[in-house]
Amino acid sequence: MSGLTRRQFAGVLGLSAAALTMPIKAMGQAKPKVVVVGGGAGGATAARYLAMNSKGAVDITLIENSETYTTCFFSNLYLGGVREYDSITHRYDTLANDYDINIVQAYATEIDRSAKMVKLEDGSSIAYDRLVLSPGIDLLFDSVPGYSEQAAEIAPHAWQAGPQTKLLKDKLDALSNGDNVLMLAPPNPYRCPPGPYERVSMMAHLFKNKGMTNSTITIIDPKPKFSKQGLFTAGWENHYPGVIEWIGPDIHGGVLGVDVDAGTIETDFDTFEGTLLNIIPKQQAGAIAHQAELVNESGYCEIDSDSMRSVVDENIFIIGDASVAGAMPKSAFSANSQAKVAAMVILGDTIAARTFPARYSNTCWSMIGTDDGVKVGAQYASIDGKIESTSNFISQVDDDAMVRKATFAESLGWYDGITQDIFG
Ligand SMILES: Cc1cc2nc3c(=O)[nH]c(=O)nc-3n(C[C@H](O)[C@H](O)[C@H](O)COP(=O)(O)OP(=O)(O)OC[C@H]3O[C@@H](n4cnc5c(N)ncnc54)[C@H](O)[C@@H]3O)c2cc1C
Repeated sequence: MSGLTRRQFAGVLGLSAAALTMPIKAMGQAKPKVVVVGGGAGGATAARYLAMNSKGAVDITLIENSETYTTCFFSNLYLGGVREYDSITHRYDTLANDYDINIVQAYATEIDRSAKMVKLEDGSSIAYDRLVLSPGIDLLFDSVPGYSEQAAEIAPHAWQAGPQTKLLKDKLDALSNGDNVLMLAPPNPYRCPPGPYERVSMMAHLFKNKGMTNSTITIIDPKPKFSKQGLFTAGWENHYPGVIEWIGPDIHGGVLGVDVDAGTIETDFDTFEGTLLNIIPKQQAGAIAHQAELVNESGYCEIDSDSMRSVVDENIFIIGDASVAGAMPKSAFSANSQAKVAAMVILGDTIAARTFPARYSNTCWSMIGTDDGVKVGAQYASIDGKIESTSNFISQVDDDAMVRKATFAESLGWYDGITQDIFG
């Protein structure tokens, strides 16, 4: 608990330790109300586990802005022509019908923490005893001079799945042999550390399948190194020699800005040109977390590592990309894992359900080429107030083809499993 005992934590929040441990049911209320904002990898999992494990004893509302949810995970495979768009788009019907979760399709504009109310864009409010926030990320468009939400219609980010993903796919499919892609990768911390590098792999895969032998992809990266770097660079050399070029800050010297109409990224070293620009800007926790003043100076939300409870407000749990989750990367796997801890602790708070020490896990698979999957992952526990890795693993550059094929098959199984775990 960030170095604090439960009693000290309660003190910081101006509560007695007993108030923290007293189940809401015992406080005389019929059915505790849990509201979840954000129906993505974190939020929908939390809602489903709350419903499954409370067996009707808790009233659960899931507020989600969109009617359907398109996963960022496997969106790179869609770009590469390996998956159909429909296969990465999911509905909330099962959560509503089979789990009795009250799905509210609306944008949550405000959290009134003292009144414990979530306000919606139509002016109505929903009361909560415990609130789970899983709003994902917002993109800081102006962190890249010359980029904006309007510019993203010309140079898509596709870092929030849906229309942007389709736009990038349409623009990719419209390229001719000899056209080039220029990607601006994001600075840390951002959602899905291997994501940009899987994406360029899938773009090169598409070019290869279409016989676009004269097309290249250049990545301008603000980071000096990146996730699974050795695996990706070896894979690019193997599948797409000479197609993908990565340029780190020691070469480009810093990004000065983009001109989406001219198709250029200007750096301290040179101005790079591309037929298609994919600009992925800096990120921070979704707007609602900022409105509710739950973020720290990093733009993300600090949590108690034993519970995913906000260190600012004991009634609010923040999971997924919006949280500062120690050694865990921002991934759907992480969000799903954190959601289960938050759901468990909330049921402990509200109906005195039994709780266990928090355990978390993550694996990030990436597809580099046909039947060539790689992975990195870890188990985590709360140690001295931080989420720390307790064991980890990573694919090896010299893995044989059968191992890579099995790893890719494993990722397909993971996708089916996790989307069922999230959406029922
Ligand atoms: C290209 C790419 C590839 C990726 N690949 C992988 C992968 O292979 N494996 C993996 O584990 N992860 C992967 N990820 C990361 C993964 O998608 C995210 O980490 C994960 O979605 C985070 O879950 P979340 O619940 O925090 O946010 P999200 O899944 O983004 O969900 C947030 C939801 O909240 C809703 N919302 C936000 N604010 C409000 C509001 N105020 N009111 C109502 N609704 C709101 C949004 O509409 C959204 O549906 C990838 C990401 C990208 C971009």
